Amino acid sequence: MTAAPEAPRRPAARPCPICSKMSLAEFHPFCSKRCADIDLSRWLKGVYAVPAVETDDDALPPADDAEGR
Ligand SMILES: [Zn+2]
Repeated sequence: MTAAPEAPRRPAARPCPICSKMSLAEFHPFCSKRCADIDLSRWLKGVYAVPAVETDDDALPPADDAEGR
């Protein structure tokens, strides 16, 4: 019998979502810590980029009290 040469059997090995390289189990699902950091920073930015709900105070025009004086 001829043993097949090293056949990497990785079930559903998905590429790195950042750079599409082969992901490593160590940094799964990324290929490196760098990509993991990139994704993390994106995620954090997304979280902190949530549009703040401004109060209506800012929408109201400044009351011009000098007019009726
Ligand atoms: Zn990557």
